[in-house]
Amino acid sequence: MRSSNHLNRRHFLEMTSIAAVSCAVGMMPVGNLAYGAALTKAQRDNLTPDEIVAHMKNGNQRFRLGKESPHDYLAQQKTSAKGQYPAAVILSCIDSRAPAETIMDLGIGDTFNVRVAGNVANDDIIGSMEFGCKVAGAKVILVMGHTACGAIKGAIDNVQLGNLTALLSKIRPAVSATEYRGERSAKNYDFVDAVARKNVELTMETIHRRSAVLEDLESSGAIKIVGAMYNLETGQVEFFS
Ligand SMILES: [Zn+2]
Repeated sequence: MRSSNHLNRRHFLEMTSIAAVSCAVGMMPVGNLAYGAALTKAQRDNLTPDEIVAHMKNGNQRFRLGKESPHDYLAQQKTSAKGQYPAAVILSCIDSRAPAETIMDLGIGDTFNVRVAGNVANDDIIGSMEFGCKVAGAKVILVMGHTACGAIKGAIDNVQLGNLTALLSKIRPAVSATEYRGERSAKNYDFVDAVARKNVELTMETIHRRSAVLEDLESSGAIKIVGAMYNLETGQVEFFS
């Protein structure tokens, strides 16, 4: 039988199978040893991509309910110092209101994080994803956009400003590719959010198209590339493939 420590130390693992855990530990309270250690290699390797996505969904649910895990960051820092075994790579926007780890209740060592305005991909970012998955063993790539995104608004308005111009040009294909009946302006938040979603889809396509390494990992079932939109108003992360 696996130790209770193994079963309880990480909330990230807790939801894999509530039923299985309940059977194994009975009524033992979850949390006495929880959140005190970073993900181990064995724990990460035992998770499937779908289970990892489920953990992120459940973490977002806890965040929305105000019932986040009582993370022991110092313990996570100490246990991860000699090695890291993150389960996912998350590409999200720099927006201060959309910190992926916080809104999905993740701890130190759980995920690689790439943040850039408008969550677009380039060679450097895709290279980082290849490292995260092929070399370091992460099993999910999550591309997460969010509502009311300033970068999306800037792309819609064709803002020209220093180096930002080139960055926004990477989002502009999503503006023209968004099918929308109604006012196609940055003042229309419904349109802005539709473009943000299309931008996530196009970023996922870009990753597929430009990385044979990730394409191979995905077609073999080793990893999954998924998209999501974070709603600033509701706090909900809506996943889509
Ligand atoms: Zn944004």
